[in-house]
Amino acid sequence: ETIEEGVRQRRFGSVVRLTGVCSIQRGDSHQPKAFSLLLRSPGDILLISRPPWWTLRHTLWTLAATGGVLLLALAWVRVLHRQVRRRTEELLEEIGERKRAEASLREAKEAAESADQAKSQFLANMSHELRTPMNGVIGMTGLLLDTHLTPEQRHFAQTVRFCGESLLSVVNDILDFSKMQAGKLTLETIEFDLESALDGPLDVLAERAHHKNLELIFFVEPGVPARLLGDPGRLRQVVTNLVGNAVKFTERGEVAVSVTCPRQTDSEAVLHFTVRDTGIGIAQEDLEQIFEEDYIVQDIPISEGLSRNGQGLSIAREWARLLGATITAQSRGQGKGSTFIVRFSKQFSINVEA
Ligand code: ADP
Repeated sequence: ETIEEGVRQRRFGSVVRLTGVCSIQRGDSHQPKAFSLLLRSPGDILLISRPPWWTLRHTLWTLAATGGVLLLALAWVRVLHRQVRRRTEELLEEIGERKRAEASLREAKEAAESADQAKSQFLANMSHELRTPMNGVIGMTGLLLDTHLTPEQRHFAQTVRFCGESLLSVVNDILDFSKMQAGKLTLETIEFDLESALDGPLDVLAERAHHKNLELIFFVEPGVPARLLGDPGRLRQVVTNLVGNAVKFTERGEVAVSVTCPRQTDSEAVLHFTVRDTGIGIAQEDLEQIFEEDYIVQDIPISEGLSRNGQGLSIAREWARLLGATITAQSRGQGKGSTFIVRFSKQFSINVEA
């Protein structure tokens, strides 16, 4: 490194200590006029401190750069601000629209509900109005059948009674259906005798079966508790719906109703009601669908005077559900009869005091 290089390496503004041979030139009055320093080697230039970074130029550059960044940031903030404002307006509009849609939906729902309630109420009233005279027709036909009649008159009177009962069961279905829709299905818990709860309605159905030359067998397995706690009316309805269907869809053979008790504790009994028939049977693909509201298997001939509305099984299943039971249908196929099993899992606590 030469001395020139050493000098060049020190930046302007550096503080250095120089060591060398100094010669002073004097003026006329012996006053020192100039001096020269003779440096011998680059080592004679000793750096004491570097020049400060904050020179005027640097400061100006820094200020300019900061100003630029600030301006950019401001511009960006402005853009963001605009975007946020636009999105907020859009959102407010969307919220407004949604609120308006919700309000109109609510209004429509309320209108539909009140129309539905009015319909259910109307149906409930109507079914009641229809049931009263129907009971009269059935009761009076029963009395008529107890009198002396010619075979032909007896046949006519019996047909009137079967038709009346069939119509009454449709009316009952409609009443239950409207109650179900209005959410007014309620259960009672009373003490009852299993056999006598089912005897009456099964007698009526036995007569109907007899009319078709069918046998109706009712069998309660020994060991099934006789006195139970629960809702006999609903149980009756579930069983008679199934037996009514069995009679309706069977032309030859028999309908057997059996009650078994697979499990029993001191206070509870699990009961299975099985309704088996030798009728037209049910196709595999219909086994689940027949429980749907309004579902009827088309192209099935049924006996004269009987109706089909496709609601019996859906109502029976709903009642069974409320009673804590399940209903399943089984069939070995069309023409091979059907079996419906009602399984009560928790209801029917045995009345221990009885
Ligand atoms: P409905 O008897 O008034 O038609 P349901 O809901 O009681 O209505 O029954 C629905 C359908 O299920 C019936 O239309 C019938 O096709 C079928 N079904 C019900 N029970 C039987 C049965 N025991 N044997 C054959 N088919 C049946």
